[in-house]
Amino acid sequence: MKIAVIGAGILGIFMAHELVKDGHEVTIFESKASVAEGSSFANAGVMSLALTHPDISSWLFNSTFRSVLGSSYGLHVHKSFSLKQWAWLIKRSGGHVADPLSTDHQKWKSLLELARLSAEHFDITSSDLQLSFDGQKGQLILLRTESDDRSLTTALSHLQSEGLSFKLLNADDTYRLEPALQADTPLVGAVHLPEDQIANCRQLAQLLKQHCEKLQAKFVFQVGVNALKTIPEGVELQLSNGTSASFQAAVVCSGVKAADLLKPWGIACPMESVYGYSISSPMKEPLNAPQSAIWDLKHQVHISRLGQRVRVSGSYELDGDPDDQDTSSLKILYKTLQDWFPGAAQLDQSTQVWKGARPTLADGLPVVGASGIKGVWLNFGHGNLGWTLAMGSANVIARQISERHVTLNMEHFGIHRF
Ligand SMILES: Cc1cc2nc3c(=O)[nH]c(=O)nc-3n(C[C@H](O)[C@H](O)[C@H](O)COP(=O)(O)OP(=O)(O)OC[C@H]3O[C@@H](n4cnc5c(N)ncnc54)[C@H](O)[C@@H]3O)c2cc1C
Repeated sequence: MKIAVIGAGILGIFMAHELVKDGHEVTIFESKASVAEGSSFANAGVMSLALTHPDISSWLFNSTFRSVLGSSYGLHVHKSFSLKQWAWLIKRSGGHVADPLSTDHQKWKSLLELARLSAEHFDITSSDLQLSFDGQKGQLILLRTESDDRSLTTALSHLQSEGLSFKLLNADDTYRLEPALQADTPLVGAVHLPEDQIANCRQLAQLLKQHCEKLQAKFVFQVGVNALKTIPEGVELQLSNGTSASFQAAVVCSGVKAADLLKPWGIACPMESVYGYSISSPMKEPLNAPQSAIWDLKHQVHISRLGQRVRVSGSYELDGDPDDQDTSSLKILYKTLQDWFPGAAQLDQSTQVWKGARPTLADGLPVVGASGIKGVWLNFGHGNLGWTLAMGSANVIARQISERHVTLNMEHFGIHRF
């Protein structure tokens, strides 16, 4: 089939790759000049089954209120929120997973299945294509206090029931795994997640682009898709350069902008940009840097080694301005780095500071599947988990387009839920 992919972020790139592999003739339209220039540019790079959840902080702390209506390190709440944003926030605060029979528990399990499929296909793809990228395996959730430890009890029991591997470490064992951890910062122990993968999302997007091109996929940069129209043969794309192009099918992978393309069809989509930051710096001294990745539970900040660089990432900001950096959010990133790995990074003019948007739907789940409009497929709204879920989401949609069997229950990811 002749298929268009709209957006060349990580969701679009994996989508294009799955489709060309299946023998389709694929064209990718991207309004920016290159791949992974939007939300996929400098994310934390963590692919973690254990941290796959529609609302990770409410789950770990067993308190929806804390994460949604703002602790000092939760979502930043502004008085200037619009009605639409308040409605989104209220919907967002509705999820509870503790009861295994609840719908939210089932949603979490579906999300986990999608993440498992992603991890499996990520390993297959990176070994088939012999991809060489910056990253490593394993992550530690650092616990500063006994109460951090206690707050995880419910979440860990869920992980256990799902057969996910983790190990509780005391402080000495934690220092053995991450010897450069600053010993002056209080630490009672850690949860070790040995199967988690850390990898450079943008680098992978660039590598996969090359493979897509080898398989004859065509990339059209600096051309946006303004509108979609159904035609007897499939879908017509109206392009920002004033031309149009027709395809048998199109997959919308346009991240935070996806709702704009659906609005004219009367498809409602409660999506908000939840902004976060990362700072990336050359490693100053490898012996002082993390071996792999750590997650500071208190500040909800990741610190990871990505090749020759150290990346620190975190913060949740609704209603942010993409071009306006919040100094208090950045301070927490620098502070957390200073707390754990003070000598790891060369913090100077070479430090890259990035603010990115997590395309987040009100229920914390992505939209993956058919749109209800003939020939139009949807793959967006992966929030904090876009990198974790990209491969699985692409695989499912490619199967659905080719009318092949999909084993996962995709009911929770349908656009019809809104
Ligand atoms: C600080 C931070 C840390 C994160 N850490 C992690 C992590 O550790 N693990 C994880 O799994 N996820 C993480 N995420 C989330 C992850 O980065 C995103 O979910 C993911 O990048 C979204 O990818 P995407 O392809 O949907 O969007 P994008 O990467 O934004 O791609 C969408 C593309 O579509 C293009 N586009 C939009 N509209 C049009 C149009 N009309 N026509 C043509 N092109 C269009 C845009 O230019 C853009 O390039 C993090 C996010 C942030 C902000």
